[in-house]
Amino acid sequence: MEKTPVLVLAPLPDFLMEPLRAAHVCHDYFHAEDKDALLANVGAHIRGIVMAGHSMSPVALLEKLPKLEIISVFGVGYDGVPVDWCRAHGIRVTNTPDVLTEDVADTASALVLMTSRRLISANRYLHAGSWTQGPFPLAHALRGKLAGIVGLGRIGKAIAQRLEAHGMRVAYHGRARQEVSWEYFESLIELAKTADFLIVACPGGAGTKHLINAQVLEALGAKGTLINIARGSVVDEMALIAALQSGTIRGAGLDVFENEPLVPQALMQCENAVLLPHLSSGTHETRRAMAGLVVGNLAAYFDGKTLLTPVC
Ligand code: NAP
Repeated sequence: MEKTPVLVLAPLPDFLMEPLRAAHVCHDYFHAEDKDALLANVGAHIRGIVMAGHSMSPVALLEKLPKLEIISVFGVGYDGVPVDWCRAHGIRVTNTPDVLTEDVADTASALVLMTSRRLISANRYLHAGSWTQGPFPLAHALRGKLAGIVGLGRIGKAIAQRLEAHGMRVAYHGRARQEVSWEYFESLIELAKTADFLIVACPGGAGTKHLINAQVLEALGAKGTLINIARGSVVDEMALIAALQSGTIRGAGLDVFENEPLVPQALMQCENAVLLPHLSSGTHETRRAMAGLVVGNLAAYFDGKTLLTPVC
């Protein structure tokens, strides 16, 4: 059978590229030095796009691919895809939900532990040989504290379950109340005022851009820590840096940033921030399961079968 031409918009692991190359002619847009020349050469034939959760497929690019039929995202977040435009143009979009939920929730609860107990600073303290000069300062307990989850979806719920196991109370904010026992806050500001940890687990994109702004951080206050495993765009990073520097909030645990992989120097210098390089789903097991969904969705589509995980 003839291989279908697809455009690859992100650097992807070998265990994904190998099966992709077996079934498709893969054109590497991400690494192409002359992207316009590549599009001029193959754009008219491209039938599929493969991209990562954090990469972008703007309308201006999609318009240059007249035969495009499907976009397969290697990630659950598809905020880089103009989904309404795709729907209107009959282009299918798929992602990789569920298989990454547990790893991302593990990372979020690890960030809660690392920030509350200051485990990274304690590790540095010992490595620096400081223990002989005295004990590491006391930290803060989790039990009884309130975790306020912003976006109680698959990952938000998995985070809530883990934090309850640490003895924490859970409340949430979202666009609508859900059939769950955790307390619902219609107002994000009110949740921030009450929460000890504000944990961001909603999608990125225009609808949530800078949802966590200076007012929310002010409400979270000096008792509060911000955790973000969602998307960098959800948090106003400049407002966050100011809040960390001034002590407006106690700390932050971040896996995602506004301009990844660039992280502002001022944020890197904040001792009260634990910063991870977008690794929440970064395990062998999960990334392979995600790769299986990317390949499986493309195969299902081009074989005329039902998509495994359709967005639209
Ligand atoms: P999901 O099941 O769709 O959950 C998203 C939740 O956010 C839903 O409950 C949704 O509820 C809520 N939400 C949507 N808009 C909101 C808003 N404006 N304010 C508050 N809540 C809002 O998705 P998921 O699988 O849990 O994934 C969540 C996000 O995590 C993804 O979109 C992705 O960006 C991020 N993620 C990051 C990593 C990483 O490596 N750091 C890995 C995986 C996922 P309603 O629609 O009812 O409002």
